[in-house]
Amino acid sequence: MFQKPFFNRIALIGAGLIGSSLSRVIKKKNLSNEIVVCARRDETLNIVKKLDLAHIVTKDLTFAVTDADLVVLCTPVGVYEALAKRMSPALKQGSIVSDVGSVKQSAINMVKPYLADGVHFVPGHPIAGTENSGPESGFDTLFENRWVILTPESGTDQNAISKVEELWRCAGAKTEIMDAKHHDRVLAITSHVPHLIAYTIVGTATDLEDRLKAEVVKFAASGFRDFTRIAASDPVMWRDIFVHNRNAVLEMLGRLTEDISTLQRYVRDSDADKMEELFSRTREIRRSVIEAGQHILPSPSKD
Ligand code: NAP
Repeated sequence: MFQKPFFNRIALIGAGLIGSSLSRVIKKKNLSNEIVVCARRDETLNIVKKLDLAHIVTKDLTFAVTDADLVVLCTPVGVYEALAKRMSPALKQGSIVSDVGSVKQSAINMVKPYLADGVHFVPGHPIAGTENSGPESGFDTLFENRWVILTPESGTDQNAISKVEELWRCAGAKTEIMDAKHHDRVLAITSHVPHLIAYTIVGTATDLEDRLKAEVVKFAASGFRDFTRIAASDPVMWRDIFVHNRNAVLEMLGRLTEDISTLQRYVRDSDADKMEELFSRTREIRRSVIEAGQHILPSPSKD
């Protein structure tokens, strides 16, 4: 539909797991003549240079977005408002601003008010990731066979939406358009609350007396291991997700707490039938996840 390269200049603000994976895809698939990467620290930019992930690296946000056709925010959500305020005067007419943040209504609230008419905002969220951070952790197959949810407000320029969709399709992803609030409720139960549970369980284990703690680590393969992987996720990113998706997380957490009480009652009453019935239903969900091809943990390809 669009001729490659779709963009003359793409500016990626943030070069961690997601930003660096995106820059790898953009380079590999020739989606932009130029890639500009902006980050805060020299250390990050030096790695980006060493890995040859960008044509231009800079700490200067205004310089980074000047003349960009597409700007993608790839930082933790908590800095969006400050970034939007600083970069908006330098955005060119007709440019597209997008993001990869895990929370969408707050992203719109923090960015949209600063964008001039004629700058198109197409918020996005790739449902892909690992527990690792930083530019070295990225890889160009991260988005393959994953969903990317786009949450543009009604009235957003269709050409801008299509271009962002096409970019993600070139990354091997499938795209879906969704209302931002709906996205936040769906992700609260599928991602945010599971992370909260992992942080809690690993935190509880950390507080156990020394001997028990040592055995928790030794016998981690019995289930705890998967929680430790999730609980190793970036603390700043997850702090921002809970701050900015507070209402949806609290709603889902309320429902979960009720269901835990129900399960607690089954255990207390040794209600074997009720437990078996519940565990059979949950096993079916796992089968559906496998059928949908969403069970494989992402990892760099071997080539
Ligand atoms: P990350 O690996 O921690 O990288 C964050 C990047 O943002 C770093 O390059 C950091 O620069 C940069 N940054 C932070 N504040 C900045 C600022 N004020 N100005 C310029 N750059 C700044 O994070 P990530 O895992 O890629 O996550 C990025 C976004 O993707 C988050 O919004 C997250 O919600 C979303 N997301 C993450 C995942 C996942 O699994 N990780 C999945 C889907 C979506 P320095 O290195 O120089 O500090």
